[in-house]
Amino acid sequence: MTPMKIHDRILVGDVVQMRKPHACGGDVWTIYRVGADIGMDCRTCGRRTMLTRRRFTHRMRRMLERGAEPPAEGQGRHGSA
Ligand SMILES: [Zn+2]
Repeated sequence: MTPMKIHDRILVGDVVQMRKPHACGGDVWTIYRVGADIGMDCRTCGRRTMLTRRRFTHRMRRMLERGAEPPAEGQGRHGSA
């Protein structure tokens, strides 16, 4: 029932802006862990926090930078010339 959104594809290294600022005033976070919960570092004060995916999705405002994308299919061929 839930459509696939970009928010559902969280990657380690993603940089996101959250709706509510952190206690330090910063609202930009870097994802450091993706699992059942999403772990993220505050870019302003360096504190770490964990949110469930559901909470993360609701609190996220927008994606600022993408982290390491998984390699696309069919890109393993040698082609240097
Ligand atoms: Zn902070």
